[in-house]
Amino acid sequence: MSQLIAEHVSKTYDGARGPVHALSEVSVRIGQGDFVVALGASGCGKSTLLSLLAGFQSPSSGRVSVDGVAVTGPGSDRGVVFQDDALFPWLTVLDNAAFGLTLRGIPSQQRRERAKEMLALVGLSAFAQHRINEISGGMRQRVGLARALTANPSFLLLDEPLGALDALTREQMQTLILDIWQKSGTGMFLITHSIEEAVMMSTELLIFSPRPGRIVSRHYFDFARRYAAGESARSIKQDPAFSQARSLILEHIIAQTEAV
Ligand code: ADP
Ligand code: MG
Repeated sequence: MSQLIAEHVSKTYDGARGPVHALSEVSVRIGQGDFVVALGASGCGKSTLLSLLAGFQSPSSGRVSVDGVAVTGPGSDRGVVFQDDALFPWLTVLDNAAFGLTLRGIPSQQRRERAKEMLALVGLSAFAQHRINEISGGMRQRVGLARALTANPSFLLLDEPLGALDALTREQMQTLILDIWQKSGTGMFLITHSIEEAVMMSTELLIFSPRPGRIVSRHYFDFARRYAAGESARSIKQDPAFSQARSLILEHIIAQTEAV
């Protein structure tokens, strides 16, 4: 079982008006089957952490590794999905989903077969030949997920993928992502602003302090595993334990904002 690990990573940017300490001494361990969620105010370094895990940039100090091997750049073992779907509007849904494999030189027929399977997984089989500008925002995020999944990654890194969606679509996407997690056994790292989403989806929830981002507390929940084991999201959210967990996290978030 693969593990994606950040050990004591810090990141300082050369900002236009001097150094920006974005992240300080952050350690995270994402095993396959884990669902790690990062919650914290805007600007506290969550996306920076994700880009270090993805290998888009390197830490100023500390280390990111997969199974003991240092991460030096992006890799097909780590799929990434952003809030802004970053799809090609002139390509079809199928070609967008297959795109990740294009870069890896996999033959066209094989690419399309794999992409079709992933479109089926996200419920988009009927839309394979549509263009991106013909489908809704929620569907675009599902194409982004399918594209990230075609390379069969061990880890999925999701930067507020549901932030721009309406409430109902968002809830449907949450359960879809949990279904994918359950079926694929992928290790998940999700950034969100929604406390309810964080509590519902996480096996480990990380609360960040404002800049420089540090992890101020970690919370372990079993709601995502209960969903994966067959309980409905509705029944879980009606459980008093769920509201208690939500209130607890809200308290922690408020404490962070007041500490500024
Ligand atoms: P979050 O995702 O939690 O909102 P970010 O990781 O995007 O936070 O940003 C953390 C801090 O680092 C912010 O103050 C942001 O302005 C700064 N920052 C992010 N990227 C860069 C960059 N490339 N150059 C300079 N500063 C940056
Ligand atoms: Mg961000």
